[in-house]
Amino acid sequence: MDNTLTKETREFQAETKQLLDLMVHSIYTNREIFLRELVSNASDAIDKIRFESLTNQELLENNSDFEIFLEVNEENKTLTISDNGIGMNYQEVIDNIGTIAKSGTKAFLEKIQNKDTTEQDLAMIGQFGVGFYSAFMVADKVMLLTKIPGQKTGVKWESTGDGNFTIEEFAKEKRGTTIVIFLKEDYQNAEKPEENFLNRYTIQNLVKKYSDYIRYPIKMVFPKEEKPVDEEGKVIEDAEPVVTLETRTLNSMTPLWTKPKNEISAEDYQTFYKNMFHDWNEPLEIIHSKVEGAVEYTTLLFIPEQAPHDFYYKERHYGLKLYSRNVFIMDECREILPEYLAFVRGLVDSADFSLNISRELLQHSKQLKLIGKNLEKSIIKKLEAMRDKERPKYEGFWKEFGNAIKGGIYMERQSHEKLQDLLLFNSSHSKDTMVTLVEYLSRMPESQQEIYYASGKDRESIENLPQMELLQEKGLEVLYLFDRVDEFAVDSLGTYQEKKFKSISRGDLNLDDAETTEENKKANEEITKENADLFKTIKGFLEDKIADVRSSNRLKSSAVCLVSDDSGISLSMEHVLSEMNQGPMFKAKRILEINPNHSLFNILKKIYEKDPAAAELKEYSELLYEQALLIEGFQLDNPAAFANRVAKLMVNAQEKNEN
Ligand code: ADP
Repeated sequence: MDNTLTKETREFQAETKQLLDLMVHSIYTNREIFLRELVSNASDAIDKIRFESLTNQELLENNSDFEIFLEVNEENKTLTISDNGIGMNYQEVIDNIGTIAKSGTKAFLEKIQNKDTTEQDLAMIGQFGVGFYSAFMVADKVMLLTKIPGQKTGVKWESTGDGNFTIEEFAKEKRGTTIVIFLKEDYQNAEKPEENFLNRYTIQNLVKKYSDYIRYPIKMVFPKEEKPVDEEGKVIEDAEPVVTLETRTLNSMTPLWTKPKNEISAEDYQTFYKNMFHDWNEPLEIIHSKVEGAVEYTTLLFIPEQAPHDFYYKERHYGLKLYSRNVFIMDECREILPEYLAFVRGLVDSADFSLNISRELLQHSKQLKLIGKNLEKSIIKKLEAMRDKERPKYEGFWKEFGNAIKGGIYMERQSHEKLQDLLLFNSSHSKDTMVTLVEYLSRMPESQQEIYYASGKDRESIENLPQMELLQEKGLEVLYLFDRVDEFAVDSLGTYQEKKFKSISRGDLNLDDAETTEENKKANEEITKENADLFKTIKGFLEDKIADVRSSNRLKSSAVCLVSDDSGISLSMEHVLSEMNQGPMFKAKRILEINPNHSLFNILKKIYEKDPAAAELKEYSELLYEQALLIEGFQLDNPAAFANRVAKLMVNAQEKNEN
């Protein structure tokens, strides 16, 4: 090995620089969280070596007393955090805490640069995978010494957080990582003990507060003044006390989930959750159960209050932690819960998991499947209870994670039965609360045959749809779908309690009881037949745009609307797909419906009777179609042509007036 230890100076990646700058000049007060972040990194590093040593015992080099050591040095004004975990090699140091841009850096920057940023947001630094840098909130300089098992030399990394760091090879005896924090003057002030990180009791309290459940002992040496003892072991009362050193373990290490429930306070659960999952908010629900029988396991699950920043992205982190008799074996195990429950955080501890189980083997594990089924059931039960007993809270949950549940309905046919009653919808029934399908059904008049829904970008645009007027007049409730996944979910359900879901902009609307509906339908078909020639002419003008023109029985005061056929995709799906850039391939089959009771219809008829080839007829047809498009929220192909047509109409009307 080359013994010339060359020192390199390197620059942080641009976003990291920005982040560091914010840390160094941080305006936040809650800076103590840096300790939690570094301790949690240390614990992760020990988890890693422990896990890898299961298949490679030699890695441990006969040192398997895993521990994290904290040390204050009043003279040098330093706080040191050491672990005997996996360590890092030269390249890993550069990659992990230097030059490589991490996906979370940008997201975190955006979060904390926002005007409304709070202390709470800052506390989530760990969730973004950039916790290490929080050390710069309290440090003038940070030094990191690290060595991976089986190597002679380690690596030394140093930075003052000013945009550069140095890195060099370094003689280090033991494996693991040591982080030395050269404290800023403000954080060595004896007069402010709660911010004095040279004070052992401050450190002890912080460990209790944030890191009590860390599975490895977090140790610190405390000086102890004691009077000496004589040869017989008796205290010599009149002698000067001598200072001895005592190593104390600061954390209790008892995994919370192994304790009996009645010994755990609400606060215990919350602290555990916040630390383990880097969340500032308290969890919305907690499920803690111990199951014995065909499979034996303990589980501690949390339903968060807020979706993490990456929840609806492809690279999101999810999955449960696995333990076997308190020993950590896997993070983010996705094989237990179905994907639609990916928002659930937590862990499963079972003696049935073997320690060196691979992800491949896990997928085929019968026990895991069984546990997964049980967990799924209890989570759904918890949600149902929340829905029935704490509706506002459930609505809050729904706003954050409803799309995950809808996704479940869309992706898995077998999930319909268990998930459909969790659905909440906005509806014409109430502006302020959402409704379940059961509630919708309970309000349905006996004659109503279908469950009506309408899609639009918000309440207002749906309520302005011409089709809504008649439904509202008849007092029929309509579910409002604002989100693209809503319609996917409703479409894939198809029916609920044997009632079909029916878009108010598709096919025939059967608004009355069967008999009246039949009569109306006939009458309407009659009008369509009587005016077949006129409709055919209009259709001819709009040939490339619509599939048909017919008389409407769903309109009250509006002249026209666009609907789509019962088969094929709907207009709103067309919207969604065109937003996803799949536009021209999927076009809904559009039908232009004309209100036979509107005076415009009589005018059309008159023009047609006078001269079936009248130029006005073409103009009017175009205008009607364009109006209908606008009402549905589509863009016009040629807005200028539309504006010209309207202008011409205005001029004509005025000229007629003057004559
Ligand atoms: P996170 O831990 O969330 O990934 P950090 O910025 O805190 O983000 O740490 C970045 C990476 O540096 C870690 O993922 C880990 O690979 C490495 N690292 C940090 N601290 C240690 C440590 N004590 N021992 C080994 N590796 C560490």
